[in-house]
Amino acid sequence: MPYSYDPQNIFAKILRGEIPNKTVLETPHSLAFHDIAPQAPVHVLVIPKGPYVTYDHFANEASAEEIVDYTRAIGEVCKMLGVTPGAGDGGYRLIANSGDAGVQEVPHLHVHILGGRVIGRMVSRSA
Ligand code: 5GP
Repeated sequence: MPYSYDPQNIFAKILRGEIPNKTVLETPHSLAFHDIAPQAPVHVLVIPKGPYVTYDHFANEASAEEIVDYTRAIGEVCKMLGVTPGAGDGGYRLIANSGDAGVQEVPHLHVHILGGRVIGRMVSRSA
């Protein structure tokens, strides 16, 4: 079944300026902002501006320009947040929850960048 994008989701409202956000970086095709309920000392969300529901939706249907912009934005945000291992920083985890099994709450693609402490196990053993 093709993806259906809900333009009333909370990140669409952030992109339209209807809800405030603490912006970290804005590029032509991407926006990075602090998570409203941080789970770690560093917790930033990076979203594409286009109407994509999940990472696979974006990867399969976005333009090359959008994909490059989004990927570079994530790299730039990691540098800005001071979490890049290549610079001697402590590292981070990148998460893209997708769909029901991934327990995705907001149906607009977002990656979480979590850092500032050891983030723990990759996947919880409990459901
Ligand atoms: P998901 O479970 O979909 O991967 O994560 C959604 C994330 O969006 C959660 O970490 C939640 O705290 C965050 N979030 C939900 N509503 C808002 C909001 O209005 N502003 C910001 N900055 N983050 C939000």
